[in-house]
Amino acid sequence: MSVDTSPLRHTLQTQLRQHTEELAVLAAAGTEPGSAGEDPDTIGARTAAARQAIEEISAALSRLTAGSYGRCERCAGPIPAARLEILPHARFCVPCQARGR
Ligand SMILES: [Zn+2]
Repeated sequence: MSVDTSPLRHTLQTQLRQHTEELAVLAAAGTEPGSAGEDPDTIGARTAAARQAIEEISAALSRLTAGSYGRCERCAGPIPAARLEILPHARFCVPCQARGR
């Protein structure tokens, strides 16, 4: 693939930092009841979402390093750059994603 992936790497690293910071904020909110004005269920759901995002972004960064980034994990076809701009950690091309996991 001849696509320049350095802007994507930067985007992914920025997102990774944001989600990591969010996780820290949520962890603090969880130990100080009422401080964030959030109920425990909301904090739990947001923590789970942040962890999931961190996992997917980390996996995408590994694929960038390994050189397999931008390939669909199901059909091994290229994922269009336009899709990766919207969803930098996309693992599947649009048809495969639409077919379900
Ligand atoms: Zn595919």
